Amino acid sequence: MPDLMVNLGGRTVPLKDCFWVLFNGDGCAEGSQLGRCAVDEEQAHKRFTPRQRDRDREIRQGYRVELVDRGQWRREAEPCFMGRCQHEKGGAE
Ligand SMILES: [Zn+2]
Repeated sequence: MPDLMVNLGGRTVPLKDCFWVLFNGDGCAEGSQLGRCAVDEEQAHKRFTPRQRDRDREIRQGYRVELVDRGQWRREAEPCFMGRCQHEKGGAE
């Protein structure tokens, strides 16, 4: 099966080289999975958050699922997972 290609900010890249990232309302990455795990945001969100009620709540809270390439992942998601980002952390000092 040929690699599925996606358009990412005007560039065409193989989906397998991308990552789905779940960002919370503050823009802080909370989850990440390989690009080929899902074909669109909705399917990716279902994998992050299986229950419809929980997804609806996340959407109300401003969560979003984005497809990013490796460079964006390093810049926008990795610092969050490593605890080095500047985002507000709920309850943090
Ligand atoms: Zn963050």
